[in-house]
Amino acid sequence: MDIPKTSKAMVLTEFKKPLELLDIPVPELGPGDMLVKVDLASVCGTDVHLARDELSMHPPTPIIMGHETVGEIFHLPDSVKTDITGAPVKVGDRIMWSHLFDGTCYSCKVLHEPVMCERSRGYGFSNAYELRGGYAEYEVVLSGTDFVRIPDDVTSEEAVGACCAGRTVVNAFDGLSRCGGIRPGDSVVVTGVGPVGLFAIVLAAQTGAAKIIAVDISPTRLEFSKRWGATDIINAADFKDSAEKVKYIRDLCGGRGADVVIECSGSLPVFAENLDLLAYYGKYLIIGQTSEQAVQIVPNKIQRKSAVVIGSHSGDIRHYIKCLKFVQANKGKYPFGEIISKKYKLEEANQALEDMRAGIALKAALVN
Ligand SMILES: [Zn+2]
Ligand SMILES: [Zn+2]
Repeated sequence: MDIPKTSKAMVLTEFKKPLELLDIPVPELGPGDMLVKVDLASVCGTDVHLARDELSMHPPTPIIMGHETVGEIFHLPDSVKTDITGAPVKVGDRIMWSHLFDGTCYSCKVLHEPVMCERSRGYGFSNAYELRGGYAEYEVVLSGTDFVRIPDDVTSEEAVGACCAGRTVVNAFDGLSRCGGIRPGDSVVVTGVGPVGLFAIVLAAQTGAAKIIAVDISPTRLEFSKRWGATDIINAADFKDSAEKVKYIRDLCGGRGADVVIECSGSLPVFAENLDLLAYYGKYLIIGQTSEQAVQIVPNKIQRKSAVVIGSHSGDIRHYIKCLKFVQANKGKYPFGEIISKKYKLEEANQALEDMRAGIALKAALVN
């Protein structure tokens, strides 16, 4: 099939302004570059903040957002025969891909942690005219980008969670494992049950944890989290103050507090309060914090409990692959596809962002 001359895209031309529908010329493809037709592009909480310039990074506009994309291969260069696992690929196959890491910097070469690549080229954050964002009809997947084919028995709705929230949590659980992980019989508290929190719950549910306590202020999200494996749900809005809530949660964990607390809410007060939920030798895994603002904590709460604090950021193709395999193996058990609570046409991207900000949609997705 001929490569299209232009692609429709919803472009962030200026921060804090609505996205604009533009026809972007399809850039000339380099050797090894693929062109994909966007099948499903989900809207991330990060996009909601990016559009308003509320993130710690400030990439120059115009930008085509969308880093959680399932794309159908439209143009496949002769040099590309398989995905990163060695599975053969052909035109029409659905794939997902990580950011492009240079493979030569200290993080890539010495740390073997490409997530921290010093010269990564991202999808969903770059110049609109490079056509590397999911809020579009087509997207360029640059040569050298790690990608994985989505198995035929996994729908795009089921798969798309692995593109961001899922891979982030799989990476974070690898970090947690290096510090002892979640052990059978443990009490686990997950604060914030958006997509990241849901993946934390569903992975915790596989560990033999005795209690997986979901905390949020949205009754809908809390109810949904039960279907992903939460044993107890707590609406934080039901308590008169923090002390009452902390006591209630600690009591649920046998009065000793939680062996593992996973912060997925992004809230600074919640981040600080979670230190009070930890049991002695508890582990505190932080995945949800994106703010650059400060918050006051008492460091002695960490020291006195001999607690372990673990941060984790994003994920590389290992984590996409593992998350996708996890979803494939457990799709009969958990409603992965329902993470997409509402679908919008590409042209309705502004509405999708608004609904995400208002908390109406758990995860919105754009379809072509
Ligand atoms: Zn995301
Ligand atoms: Zn690198």
